[in-house]
Amino acid sequence: MLRSTACADFYYFLKRFAALASSFYGGSVPVQFTILGSGSSGNCAYLECDDTRLLIDAGLSGRQIRQRLLAIGRTPEKLDGILITHEHSDHIQGLTALAAKLNIPVYCNRLTRDAIHAQLGIEAQYRLFETGATIELGSMEINTFAVPHDAYDPIGFLIQSDGAKIGILTDLGHATKLVTERVRAANILMLETNHDLKMLQEDTRRPWSVKQRIVSRHGHLSNDAAARFVCEMASADLEHLYLGHLSSDCNRPELAQETVTRELQRIGATHVAVATASQDLPCATLFYGRRVDPPRQLEPLRERPPLYGDFSEPQLRFSL
Ligand SMILES: [Zn+2]
Ligand SMILES: [Zn+2]
Repeated sequence: MLRSTACADFYYFLKRFAALASSFYGGSVPVQFTILGSGSSGNCAYLECDDTRLLIDAGLSGRQIRQRLLAIGRTPEKLDGILITHEHSDHIQGLTALAAKLNIPVYCNRLTRDAIHAQLGIEAQYRLFETGATIELGSMEINTFAVPHDAYDPIGFLIQSDGAKIGILTDLGHATKLVTERVRAANILMLETNHDLKMLQEDTRRPWSVKQRIVSRHGHLSNDAAARFVCEMASADLEHLYLGHLSSDCNRPELAQETVTRELQRIGATHVAVATASQDLPCATLFYGRRVDPPRQLEPLRERPPLYGDFSEPQLRFSL
């Protein structure tokens, strides 16, 4: 009895929250962005706008992706597609469970498809595009561009939907001019801060050759390099910066956060909210939208919330 009362209260709270958010954003539902997990062992993010639901990379196990989606009230079965940046296992290991078993379409370029097929040996519904192409998926327009990294044809994304622009830059050896230009308009940016250079140099477990690969121009971005890059590309439009793909051995969240925040403060970009993603837990969901219409009638919650799961506190953000 007590349990059902608690559930009813919780359900009522969620309905009120959705109604308030809907009213606040002028009747349109804001873009919803959740990094489900990010780090050297696995990367996966969820993006939703209107009725389009996407995963960006599927680098956690199928079980973990399901659990973390349930924790934000979503299920893998309702996904419209999975965007893949490149074929390294920390970006594709969940595809067997999601793409092959649930038949969710996988959006990637041809070389990445071939590499996924060679590694996982799965049949999936592939939707292929050329690197550099802009593709449409439901209400989202997805701009793709090449990034320097030691994979077959690695890419980054700038996803536009309902006035929001979301940049995805993970696994980046160095920031090219093209990359900088493509994400300059982003309101939300997920950026790799892989390692602290000193911690990497002092690491005794990695052989020299591996360290060389990591710091190479086709390896991974250090905290310092990421900070320099953000200072170069940050505009007044950038509001939310997520630091991701941290090495568990050669970085610490507070180091990455401190390095990037310090540089942003140095150039006076104090309007950028910086958060560091975790490998083990989803980030708090970001609801982002631009209010353009006068408030309308409240709308009901579109989807029943999960009966269980670890709800992260939603952060209501907006910009006028
Ligand atoms: Zn990679
Ligand atoms: Zn990676």
